[in-house]
Amino acid sequence: MAIIKTQGLVLKYTDINEADRIITLITRNKGKIKAIAKGCRRPKSSLLSSCQLFAVSDYVLFKGTNFYHVSSGELREPFFNLRNDLLKLSYAVYFAELADTVTDEDMASEKLFIILSKTLYYLSQNRIPIGILACAYQLKLMDLSGYRPMLYKCVNCGKGDNLSRFSINLGGALCSDCNDYDKASIKVSKKTMELIGQLLSTPISRLNTLKIDNNIFIEIDKIVYSFVQKHLDKKFKSMDFINNIKSLDIK
Ligand SMILES: [Zn+2]
Repeated sequence: MAIIKTQGLVLKYTDINEADRIITLITRNKGKIKAIAKGCRRPKSSLLSSCQLFAVSDYVLFKGTNFYHVSSGELREPFFNLRNDLLKLSYAVYFAELADTVTDEDMASEKLFIILSKTLYYLSQNRIPIGILACAYQLKLMDLSGYRPMLYKCVNCGKGDNLSRFSINLGGALCSDCNDYDKASIKVSKKTMELIGQLLSTPISRLNTLKIDNNIFIEIDKIVYSFVQKHLDKKFKSMDFINNIKSLDIK
């Protein structure tokens, strides 16, 4: 019987039968894994807390005929307080959905596991503005997935001067000579381009050192999410929900 010991984070789950649950884990070193947790919804189950959404635990899994089964889970970080704030919870769901989208089973997952765990940790605190954390997470995840935006050279001609537009379609900066290569490109200031670069390269724990003017931030927020949607070819329901919360101001 194949047994796996790994740290993992619950990205999503589906309840089945009376008290069972199929959890999808992003693990530190075993990629993405789906596993059945038998009886984990019973109040006295030893798996109860380690099979909640976003829980980080040390798991022991064994492989059955078709599925992995959760044998044990020692909870490391529950991120309980994310559930007390609708906006934070919605962002956490979006972050997990994004991580789920960019991963396949059997692919290396350590960097993504660390980025997601750290991002959820800082989301559960109040040290970094949520919007800045969200933009940085999205950019870092896109970079890991092979979609690093090109910010310091023109995506068309490679020159580093007069980078005046951002092309979502082509994946980065366009210089003033190459504007016509993407009519839908967005005019951005040098400062905006620099800040996108800083969001990408600044470690998550140091994001609170970034100061971004609100108008520039609104522009960056739109660019980053459009970039994600375009290159992953997916519209995220969780982001629609976040935008609804923001527009209603019901957080
Ligand atoms: Zn150019």
